[in-house]
Order: sequence, then C-alpha cells, then structure tokens
Amino acid sequence: MKRIGVLTSGGDAPGMNAAVRSVVRSACGFGLEVVGIRRGYAGLLAEEFVELGPRSVANILHRGGTMLGTARCEEMKLPEGLKKGAESLRTASIDGLVAIGGDGTFRGAQALAEITDIHIVGVPGTIDNDVYGTDYTIGFDTAVNTAVEAIDRIRDTAEAHQRLFFVEVMGRTRGFIALDVGIACGAEDVLVPEVRTNLDDLCANIQSQFAGGKRASIVVVAEGDDAGHAFEVGNKVGGRLHMDYRVCVIGHVQRGGAPSARDRLLSSKLGAGAVKVLAEGRTGVMVGEVAGHVVETPLNLTWSRQKELNVEMLQLMKTLAR
Ligand code: ATP
Repeated sequence: MKRIGVLTSGGDAPGMNAAVRSVVRSACGFGLEVVGIRRGYAGLLAEEFVELGPRSVANILHRGGTMLGTARCEEMKLPEGLKKGAESLRTASIDGLVAIGGDGTFRGAQALAEITDIHIVGVPGTIDNDVYGTDYTIGFDTAVNTAVEAIDRIRDTAEAHQRLFFVEVMGRTRGFIALDVGIACGAEDVLVPEVRTNLDDLCANIQSQFAGGKRASIVVVAEGDDAGHAFEVGNKVGGRLHMDYRVCVIGHVQRGGAPSARDRLLSSKLGAGAVKVLAEGRTGVMVGEVAGHVVETPLNLTWSRQKELNVEMLQLMKTLAR
C-alpha cells in the first residue's frame, strides 16, 4: 500500500472535513500518499483528483460541509460506471480507498472492491445515523444539536401564545434524529417511521396535556412518518381538534454548521481507524464506534442488517412529557 484515495459521497454531514483531515494526517504517519477525489463517485468517474498533504487539510476541522464536495451519481450503479470508476482508480495509481458516506456510498465501495484488487474501507458519514455497525454516524450529533437549538426557540414562542407546533426534522426512513431531538427538547410527542402513528392517540395526548395545564405542545415529526409530513399531520390533527397550530420544517439547516465536539472526536477516531485498516492490509469493512471502541464491520452488513431504534427511549419520552 503506497497511495490511498479519499472521497465523501451521498448527503453531506458536519464532520466530513474532520474525517478527511484525519485520513490525510494519519496516512502521513504511515508514509502513505493521499489523493482527494472531488464530488464523490461523480468525481471519481470524471477523474477529479487533488493531491493532499498535511497542510492541505489545515483549518477544516471545525467547518461544516466537505472540502472535497459530494454528489449522488446514478452512473456508478451501472456496470459501465463501475468499470470507469475502477479504471480511474488505476489511472491515479490508487491502491486503497477510504469512502466516507452512508449505506449507498458503501454499496458503491463494495461493488468497486468486487471488480478490482484495490483495498476499500468505509467511514460512516451521514446525519441520519441509519448505519449498522456503529453507535453513531458522523454528523448525527451536530444535526441533533442544531434541531434542538431551533426547537428551544420555537418553545419560547409556543409558550407565549399557548400554541401547538408540529416540527419536522430529517429522517426519510428512520427516526433516530426525531427521537433524540424529541427527548432533548422535551417534546410532547415524537412521530417516527418505525412506529405506526395513531392519530386518535396523538389527539387525545395533546388534549389531555393542555387540560393538565401545559402552555404549549411541540410534536416532533420525522419527515418519513407514516402519517405524513408535518404539514399533513398538522392539518389532520388541527382539523380534528379544531385547534390553531403552526408547522416548522427545520430542513437543510440540520445539515450545515460547525461540527460538534463529539462529531469532531468521532471523525478523528474513525478517519485514523480507516487508514490503520488499509495500512494493515485489510479491506471490505466499515470502521465504526461501538461502546467507545473502534470496530470493523463487513461492508455488506452495514446495509443488510437494520440498526434498531431504541423503543425504550420512545417510552421515556412519553413518560417525561406528562
Ligand atoms: P445518505 O445516507 O446521506 O443519503 P448515502 O451514501 O446513503 O448517504 P446515496 O445517495 O444512497 O447516499 O449513495 C451515494 C452514492 O453511492 C450514489 O449516488 C451512488 O453513486 C453510489 N451508490 C449507491 N448505491 C449503489 C449501488 N448499489 N452500486 C453502486 N453505487 C451505488
């Protein structure tokens, strides 16, 4: 192993820069050269390479987004695209690749590993936290903190006007963000895709909470909840209860901003862990953190196994929302 590539792919997540920095500087410690690949697999196919050394990654640890850029690239899912990707890696004399992204990125990485002899390792970078093999993904903690800060502000105005709010957070298929945000901001209810939403129960909860003296109600809605987006849920609940309500979609604000200290730590550990895997000659794994330890999980398990949402925490949220 002489020369490794690093790319960020899929949705951007705060902490990706910190992970790239860690990869580059750790590689330096092993005497490895590093090539940055711009715009994920799209940049790989277009051979958009940039040589990276310790100084090229100065002053990025605290920045959101990704200095390498990211992209979604449909061509990579086709055999011709994959072949082109493999040729690009060979052209740049890359013999190891660190792919930072979510499960889609890992599928691409695994597909490349199957048609080349290039060693490949994944680093989980996605705000959704929906990757098996790691307790947390890079960007999740920052996204949760950003949403909590926004909802704290919403609570001020909701209490002042004695209002019902439906706040939508990201999570097209999973409720990890919604659940943690809901508990951290003292939400009155949380709707997640993993648990069927019963609108009768939701309406009854809201009514009894106001009747019990609450001055405001904040319902956190994961964007992929089975009852619909926050606007739809608000419309249905507001109509049934004949109550005025407001909707706030936090949206892409959750993706941006400086990574939290926790995300910087995770990125630093996992970037270094990925380089160690390559330097020691292993391939086809994702490095994650489980119970504080850096662990390796075969790439194919990261998407074929489902990471469970902690339903006990949902119960805790309900207990504390009395
Ligand atoms: P996020 O969770 O933030 O959305 P992700 O990595 O899951 O991140 P995707 O858009 O699903 O994001 O995947 C990123 C890219 O990985 C895709 O645009 C595509 O280029 C590549 N990819 C996804 N699935 C495959 C596949 N089955 N084969 C080859 N490449 C794939």
